[in-house]
Amino acid sequence: CGIFGVYGVSDAANFVALGLHALQHRGQEAGGIVAHHPDHGFNSARRFGYVRDNFTRQSLMETLPGPLSIGHVRYSTAGGKTPVIRDVQPFFGEFAMGGAAIAHNGNITNADALRKELVERGSIFQSNSDSECIIHLMARSLQRTIPERMEDALRRVEGAFSIVAMTRSKLIGVRDPLGVRPLVLGQVGDGWVLSSETCALDIIGAKYVREIEPGEMVVINGNGVESHRPFRPQPSRFCIFEHVYFSRPDSIIGGQSVYETRHQIGVELAKESPVEADLVCPVPDSGTPAAIGFSHESGIPYAMGIIRNQYMGRTFIEPTEQIRNMGVRLKLNVNRALIEGKRVILVDDSVVRGTTSRKIKDMILDAGAKEVHFRIASPPTAWPCFYGVDTPNREKLLAATMSEDEMREHLAVDSLKFISLDGLYRAVGEAKGRDKSCPQYCDACFSGDYPVEPSDQIEKGFEL
Ligand code: 5GP
Ligand code: SF4
Ligand code: MG
Repeated sequence: CGIFGVYGVSDAANFVALGLHALQHRGQEAGGIVAHHPDHGFNSARRFGYVRDNFTRQSLMETLPGPLSIGHVRYSTAGGKTPVIRDVQPFFGEFAMGGAAIAHNGNITNADALRKELVERGSIFQSNSDSECIIHLMARSLQRTIPERMEDALRRVEGAFSIVAMTRSKLIGVRDPLGVRPLVLGQVGDGWVLSSETCALDIIGAKYVREIEPGEMVVINGNGVESHRPFRPQPSRFCIFEHVYFSRPDSIIGGQSVYETRHQIGVELAKESPVEADLVCPVPDSGTPAAIGFSHESGIPYAMGIIRNQYMGRTFIEPTEQIRNMGVRLKLNVNRALIEGKRVILVDDSVVRGTTSRKIKDMILDAGAKEVHFRIASPPTAWPCFYGVDTPNREKLLAATMSEDEMREHLAVDSLKFISLDGLYRAVGEAKGRDKSCPQYCDACFSGDYPVEPSDQIEKGFEL
């Protein structure tokens, strides 16, 4: 998901709508905005679909006045499978001291247990979302300020969370102690901005200030930014998949350009798994920077052998199997004139179910390619993510049930190679690769090394 908040500009919700539009790649199912105005109180709007189709209408935006606003773009990880509007964030609750609204990116790994406990004690839930627990924990806290209640609540929450929240007078940003999901701070005029990624600061002309640090809470009001440290310090474990796929290539993470990291992944991949061929083609758009890196390193010409229809969203974000299966053809087409008679290297960011790769391989062979070699910019995805990226159950992950050789056979391609975990770490800047005693990132979907025990899942029978 994507989160964004603005404090201290007139009609802050307009900026939030633009910010969410720039974060649309992080979630396309739905979006929501809450704003607060001293005379009109809290107002909110939550809609299915793209930001540009909802939050551009003046008649809607006029209902969200005020200098303080937060927003969220969603794709379903936790929560019910059929999208329902009451699961769309931000969540707002009125309780002591005026209440608060929150927008959450990540996933709470002990949400089932917390919810059960809260419901037994009388909390009335409005949604299926794991994130709603935070509001109820805040409402029940005995602390005297809302930021203190939030600290109280978050100390009971396990898992991954970047949060943008607001009270009647404050904008609040938090990252979990491991800093799994991103969150950055920016400045626009005399106002402040919190955003999942820097690309959304650019769209409103905000200046990047810094990242919110893992385990940090910032409280922003007219006096500026106050920093709190509510959690016990821990070594950070940022999601390495943000670098591979999730973030936009024009964003900066930890001082590193996402585009350049992906380019470097392609370079490492070409060093690890070279192959003779005529063309390097990306599976657009997610494979593009790595394909360029692969081409540079190997000297094999880069070509746009597959063309993407710009008007389709990301296939995987559509929640049903049927739509996902059709998705590839709706979105991608082979550029026949380039491919015919050629030995083609296809570079993609990841293989999850294998649906995309299989269909693309068929399309490329139909177009007359002589050989097809897959090069994948991440290690085999063998484990589900419980921290806010929508991967399917283990049984549906190709790499969970097959070896690399079996996958190659299943996809019926001439060769299939994934970047090694060490190679991926080198590409993100760890000279020696992955330090096994103390990994610098979360890489659980590749390694099965979960930095936070997924306790709800274990309760449901998931085996580590
Ligand atoms: P597959 O078709 O193998 O299930 O999905 C792989 C494709 O989906 C890749 O092209 C990749 O861009 C995209 N993808 C990336 N991340 C994810 C994810 O977390 N979940 C899913 N289902 N697909 C993803
Ligand atoms: Fe990121 Fe994978 Fe960890 Fe999920 S499991 S947070 S996708 S590295
Ligand atoms: Mg893709």
